[in-house]
Amino acid sequence: MTQPSTRAQRLAMPLARDVVRELAVEHGGCVRPVQLRRTDLHTGQAERVLVPCGHTLAAVCPSCAERKRTLRAAQCREGWHLDREPIVQADDPDDEQRMWVEKRAEVQQWRDSAEAAGGDTAEDDALIGDLDEEITRAGMRGKVLPERAARRHRSTRRRQDTPDLPRRKVAPRTIGKTYTSADGKTFRPSMFITLTCPSYGRVGADGTPANPDSYDYTRAARDALHFAALFDRFVQNVRRFLGYDVQYFAAVEPQRRLAPHIHIAIRGTLSRTELRQVLAATYHQVWWPPVDHVTHDDGNLPVWHEASGNYLDPATGELLPDWDDALDAIGDQDEPLHVARFGQRFDAQGVLSGSRDANRCIRYLTKYLTKHVADCHQAETGAQRAHMERLADALRFEPCSPTCANWLRYGVQPKNAREGLRPGCCKGKAHRPEHLGYAGRRVLVSRKWSGKTLADHRADRRDWLLATLGLVAADPVRYSWEPVAPGDPDHMPNAQRLLHVVADRQRWHAALTEARARASGQAAPELSATGRAA
Ligand SMILES: [Zn+2]
Ligand SMILES: [Zn+2]
Repeated sequence: MTQPSTRAQRLAMPLARDVVRELAVEHGGCVRPVQLRRTDLHTGQAERVLVPCGHTLAAVCPSCAERKRTLRAAQCREGWHLDREPIVQADDPDDEQRMWVEKRAEVQQWRDSAEAAGGDTAEDDALIGDLDEEITRAGMRGKVLPERAARRHRSTRRRQDTPDLPRRKVAPRTIGKTYTSADGKTFRPSMFITLTCPSYGRVGADGTPANPDSYDYTRAARDALHFAALFDRFVQNVRRFLGYDVQYFAAVEPQRRLAPHIHIAIRGTLSRTELRQVLAATYHQVWWPPVDHVTHDDGNLPVWHEASGNYLDPATGELLPDWDDALDAIGDQDEPLHVARFGQRFDAQGVLSGSRDANRCIRYLTKYLTKHVADCHQAETGAQRAHMERLADALRFEPCSPTCANWLRYGVQPKNAREGLRPGCCKGKAHRPEHLGYAGRRVLVSRKWSGKTLADHRADRRDWLLATLGLVAADPVRYSWEPVAPGDPDHMPNAQRLLHVVADRQRWHAALTEARARASGQAAPELSATGRAA
């Protein structure tokens, strides 16, 4: 290449560092590797090891996000047409899970001693609430204590406008029916279903409302907030209707109009008529205090009273009702704050194991997983940006959960109230523009889908790799691991790590290509001196 002579020519040359990053991505290597020190406890020798960051968003790390997506696709494929009942065993708790449960035990003891001594337990109770959330977040099921007897019995009378659903007893099996064709072949069809939210007003092809003033943004916001709960109801109803423990792998995504919809792979089948029946009977009622009247706007926000740990009305100095009081005030004649339902439009198709349709559906189910909800459809026009902003506005003061700071705006103390809460500034994920009101998980997988966790699927992949390369897994008790801090003598800056990633991935690719060629009985491809496949 000739030497560039002008500034423009120099600027047109690629930046060396960008090339390294691009190569890392091209070879499927992590672009934000974490450096660990692995010490061999027999020899005392320390090694630098780079582990992938494991991020699920492509904007952060394209390679790790793609690996996670592939893993999800494998999980989806494996469970969809299972013909034997999966064996589900709980994993051993990891260190983080143990740590949270230990902390929880400690606080329970503080609380119980305080209570026995006639002291105040409010702070401990709040801490217990937080720890219970951490326990769930760390991937544990259920609660460490059984739920306390509810203080109120909400009316469970069915809504007049909802048809009753025939109910069967749910058998413990998870496998759908088989069908035998005339020539004796057996089929075990499964389903691919897409459910949407109802209409909030007519929208154009670009997803924006024909008439923004009449578009029901409040309803859209509430449906998005309670979408996960509605899906739960749907699954319960399908199980009762079909009479067995129906399993699913589902992905939540936004439509162009920014309302969530859900793609569901279901093991087993139901007809369109049956599905329509289940959908007509599926709803989720939100029994929360009313939010029709703003009692405390920005000019007269409730004030925190340190001594009692409560919020007071700034004008009268009286305590605001707390969360339980506010729930108790909901009478039998009152209406729920919101009733969420799926829209009339749905899509359903039968899918046979291993068919082209099955592969297409799996691609569909995992298509957007590496993107933030809001990034699935980028706002490109003024109308689309305005639509996005109006939805964000509707979500700003809508309570997202019982602990939401927005309750103060409607004269109710949120559950576990603490100092510094400010309506419109709730930290809940649902209010953030990139979540569009949906704060739940993007992938919802029932427990007996494949009988495996994502970690099991990852281990399967590793075992396959080791077997293909003819390697033996390292003995886990032989090594100690520790993170490498920026001040340490063996610390590598990210640019240097990336060079290692590129070199490692190249060597690894070459080894894999060779192993595959050997396995298929072909000659190994030529390797150059650097170990790079030609
Ligand atoms: Zn990464
Ligand atoms: Zn909130």
